[in-house]
Amino acid sequence: MEKYYSLSKLPYDYKALAPYISEDLLTLHHTKHHQAYVTGANAILEKIDKARKDKTDFDIKATAKELSFHLGGIRFHTLFWQNLAPAGKGGGGLPKGDLTRAIDAEYGGFDRFRKEFSTAATSVEGSGWAALSYCNRTGRPLIMQVEKHNMNEFPALPILMVLDVWEHAYYLDYRNDRAKFIDAFWNIVNWDEIGKRLAAAEKGITFIQ
Ligand code: MN
Repeated sequence: MEKYYSLSKLPYDYKALAPYISEDLLTLHHTKHHQAYVTGANAILEKIDKARKDKTDFDIKATAKELSFHLGGIRFHTLFWQNLAPAGKGGGGLPKGDLTRAIDAEYGGFDRFRKEFSTAATSVEGSGWAALSYCNRTGRPLIMQVEKHNMNEFPALPILMVLDVWEHAYYLDYRNDRAKFIDAFWNIVNWDEIGKRLAAAEKGITFIQ
């Protein structure tokens, strides 16, 4: 096990999600933005390690907040890349099997789910995410908005699907039209991956990376 984080690889190449996410945008998002959270988390951990070794103090309150921000960034980007797939090659279409049953039971059908999830994503204030999570107390797939990477989460609920709506996730391709990016997103959702996450969550597995 490594003591520090590294940038997870994409499960497809940088051109694979075009035209919904261009090669330029995906490259920038992965190699600059996602990388920045990895670099940021590691810098904090190195600072903590050094302070403990030297027996000096550091600002625990500020450090804990900053670390949660970067760890949230790492986790959510890793999930995001995994819950996307090239259109027509695993991406887009409709959910299948148990995932369909779970969505139908909660939302009364896919169209209603898509509408609620899109609205959650569109209405995130500032930078954040829309996420589908699963409550293993009630068996309900619930939509949450996440502020930045780490606030407004339903604590500890396993996450099935995320959508990044930070400006850096769409500005290069869609300028300020977040809603257009969200519409495009549905063409590249990897439903098989999300179905696997639901199956794991139903078994009580709360965290898979
Ligand atoms: Mn991002």
